[in-house]
Amino acid sequence: MMSKLKRCPSCCGKARLMTYDTYGSHYVKCDNVSCGIVTWIHTTEEEAVEAWNKMVTDEEYVESMYTRKEYGE
Ligand SMILES: [Zn+2]
Repeated sequence: MMSKLKRCPSCCGKARLMTYDTYGSHYVKCDNVSCGIVTWIHTTEEEAVEAWNKMVTDEEYVESMYTRKEYGE
């Protein structure tokens, strides 16, 4: 059973599991096109979901996302 995707740490949008059919590679990205956070590419869906959820719960990472946004504007 695959774990559920948490919400995006940056915009609180919905995350979506993506697949490159030709390579059998999986990654998770934020559904919000103006946000565009993605994970690295993983060989299994479970790994991609795990990587996303880990990223979401990583406070330092989330903090760096907000900082980057402030600088960008
Ligand atoms: Zn987002």
